[in-house]
Amino acid sequence: MPQRILVIEDEAPIRRGLVDALAHSGYMPLEAADGKAGLELALTAEYDLLLLDLMLPKVAGLEILQQLRQVRPAVAVIILTALGQEGDRVRGLKLGADDYIVKPFSVKELLARVEAVLRRSAERPSDLRRFAIPGGTADLDRCELRFDDGQRCELSQREMELLRYLVRNANRAVSRDEILARVWGLGSTANIVTRTVDMHVARLREKLRDDVSDPRVLLTVRGKGYMYAQEQVDNE
Ligand code: CA
Repeated sequence: MPQRILVIEDEAPIRRGLVDALAHSGYMPLEAADGKAGLELALTAEYDLLLLDLMLPKVAGLEILQQLRQVRPAVAVIILTALGQEGDRVRGLKLGADDYIVKPFSVKELLARVEAVLRRSAERPSDLRRFAIPGGTADLDRCELRFDDGQRCELSQREMELLRYLVRNANRAVSRDEILARVWGLGSTANIVTRTVDMHVARLREKLRDDVSDPRVLLTVRGKGYMYAQEQVDNE
């Protein structure tokens, strides 16, 4: 069955180009030409990925993303931004967009990103209750890590949520601000709160049996934040 992609873009030539390129590549595109129609489709239609322009009449793209994430936290989203909209792009990523494309973009680039995001979202269990970690399993229902050698390690609720968020976003550097917003539900970037993230990451590393002095699982990405490194089979 073809994967369905919802395109919300008000500029007709761009929307037409996207829809044609997607259909030509075997996807089934759905489309909306303004924010209001887009929001309605985003919340009600069945689709695998959303291509979301941010500058939209009637309802802004970020507003759509925010509402969508409340009802469908896991659906794949790529935002379309114009050059010079770095602020919106960052806000979009914080609101849970999977990737972004800067206009003008080539069809080739678009299709590559669509493919990559769809692949990542297929690998990502929709409801992460239990998942593999290096040398064992994380069990969310029991808030524990189980290792193949029979050892168990309890996680606090917050550690579990942090781990789940990082795993859901595996192989992408996640900033402390984003972690605070998405795991703690805080907008503040006060130093003391940021250190809380660092402390939790440090504890998780120990529990995951990561090498604290040379982490292999929960990486520190200089200037960006933290990244859960997941081994992937990549055909590219
Ligand atoms: Ca637009």
